[in-house]
Amino acid sequence: MFKGVPYRLTLKGRIYAGWLIFVDWFKRLRPVVRYYQGKYPTNSTCYNCGLPWEAVRESEIDCGIHFIDVDEDHGFFPCCEYCWQRMDDLKKIDAIVALFEEWESCGGSPYTKEEMLDALAQDLQEKEA
Ligand SMILES: [Zn+2]
Repeated sequence: MFKGVPYRLTLKGRIYAGWLIFVDWFKRLRPVVRYYQGKYPTNSTCYNCGLPWEAVRESEIDCGIHFIDVDEDHGFFPCCEYCWQRMDDLKKIDAIVALFEEWESCGGSPYTKEEMLDALAQDLQEKEA
């Protein structure tokens, strides 16, 4: 009877999607973030929520990490996709400057600050288009 209906539109699919949204929200509560930081102590983290990348990757709904391309083969990721979709542009600039400064403080950034902000501008334009 339900043949041809995509799984995500079935009742079971919707309940599952709702569960994943709940999990993504729950994982970003402070005590849970602290738990994950203890679980993956050597991992870099999302600038916004502080979740280690290993814990972000376990997330199934927002595709994990938000990549920003500098060129075809290179890029960087300041935030998880969950946060990125909920941040305003100023906060995104802050995140990129923070990542740049973090790199500078531990040996030097592979990109100049201008290159990184240009890549962000490109990323934001692609979203609007
Ligand atoms: Zn995040």
